[in-house]
Amino acid sequence: MNAVSRIYLSPPHMSGQELTIVGEAFASNWIAPVGPHVKAFEQALGETVGVSHVAALASGTAALHLALLLAGVKPGDEVFVSTLTFSASVNPIYYVGARPVFIDSELQSWNLDPSLLEEALESRRAAGRMPAALVLVHLYGQTADLDPIVSLCEQYGVPLIEDAAEVLGATYRGRHPGTFGCAGVLSFNGNKIITTSGGGALVSNNGACIEQALKLATQAREPKPHYEHEEIGYNYRLSNVLAAIGLSQLGVLEDRVQARRRIFEVYRAALADTPGLTFQPEAPWGRHTRWLTCIQVDPEAFGADREALRLALDAENIEARPLWKPMHRQPVFAGCAAFGGSVSDRLFERGLCLPSGSAMTSADIDRVVDIVRLVGRRGTASTSTLAVG
Ligand SMILES: *Cc1c(COP(=O)(O)O)cnc(C)c1O
Repeated sequence: MNAVSRIYLSPPHMSGQELTIVGEAFASNWIAPVGPHVKAFEQALGETVGVSHVAALASGTAALHLALLLAGVKPGDEVFVSTLTFSASVNPIYYVGARPVFIDSELQSWNLDPSLLEEALESRRAAGRMPAALVLVHLYGQTADLDPIVSLCEQYGVPLIEDAAEVLGATYRGRHPGTFGCAGVLSFNGNKIITTSGGGALVSNNGACIEQALKLATQAREPKPHYEHEEIGYNYRLSNVLAAIGLSQLGVLEDRVQARRRIFEVYRAALADTPGLTFQPEAPWGRHTRWLTCIQVDPEAFGADREALRLALDAENIEARPLWKPMHRQPVFAGCAAFGGSVSDRLFERGLCLPSGSAMTSADIDRVVDIVRLVGRRGTASTSTLAVG
C-alpha cells in the first residue's frame, strides 16, 4: 500500500525538555499523585489562564464530574449542554444522576447559540423547572460568545461550567476561557494542544470551590490524622510525573498556538480557489487557536462529499475526522430534550477536521492539500484512481 508515514490528526508534540523535568521528578522520588511538580504545574497553569486557583486532575472528564458536584447538581436535575461536542462533555452529567438538555450551535463560531439558550431558559422558567447548571463547550480552539451567555446565566441564576478542554491558549475579549463561570475544565489528553499524555484541570477564582475539588479528588479525606470520611470521594489527582511533562509543555503553549494558526493559514491560502470548501470562521470576539483546522464541504460545489474526501485522505495515509456528531443524534442519549439541532446536524454532515498537529512540516501540509484539490477537481471519481505516487 502506502510507504509514506501516516499523518495524524493532532499527535503529541514534545518540547524536548520533558525528559529532563521528568528526570527531576524521579530524582526527588515524587512518583505519586502528589509532589512539587503538581504544585508548580498548578501555579503555572493559573498564571497562563489568569485564574487564582487550579486543581490538576487525572482527566478533563474528572474535572467536569467534580465541577457538576460542586455546582450542586443532584439526581433528577436537568443540565443544559452544547449538543455539538465530544461525549465527555455529557457523560459526567449522568455520573451525578442528572439528565442533559441539548442546545444547538450558531454559525459564527459553531458554539452554543445564545438566543436558543435564552429560549430554553425561558421555556424552563415557564415550566417552573430551572436547569441545575449549563455546561458550555468551546470547540476546536474557539470560544463561544461568552458575554450574552454569562449574563443569561446570571439573570436566570444558573451556574456556568465551561468545558475549555479544546481552547487552551484562546481568548475572549482578552480573557482566557474557563475563567468566566463558576469553574472551567481543561484537558491535557494526547491530542490536545499541549499534553501530559493524559490529564486535566479544574480552574476557578473561587478558592473554596477548588479546595473542595481537591478534597473530593483525594477520596474526600477529612483533616484528621487517621482516615476519616464524611462524604463520597474519588481518586482523581494528576500524577507528579505527568505534571512534570505538563510543566515543560506549558512553556511552549504560545509556540504551539502560533504553529497551529500558521498551519490554518497555509491550508486557507492553498485551498482558497477550491470551490465548495469553507473554513470555520474566526469570530470577532477573540483569538482562535486553530487547535484543529475545520472545513465545511459543500458536495455540489466541491464535487464530492465530506465522507468521500475523508476516505480519499485515509487511502493516502492521512487521518481526517468528521466534526463531532451532535449529542442529540447519539443513540446513547436518545430521548433527551433538545432545543434546535439543525445547525449542528448540518455542520456534522459537511464538516471535516484536517490534520493540524503543530509539528506538521510544509511537505505534510502539501500532501494533504494535494489530495483535497485532486478530489475536488475530479468530482466523484472513485478513490482508487487517486494514487498520486
Ligand atoms: C478532550 C475533551 C474532553 C475530555 O477531556 P479528557 O482529558 O480526555 O477526559 C472534554 N470535552 C471536550 C470538548 C474535549 O475535547
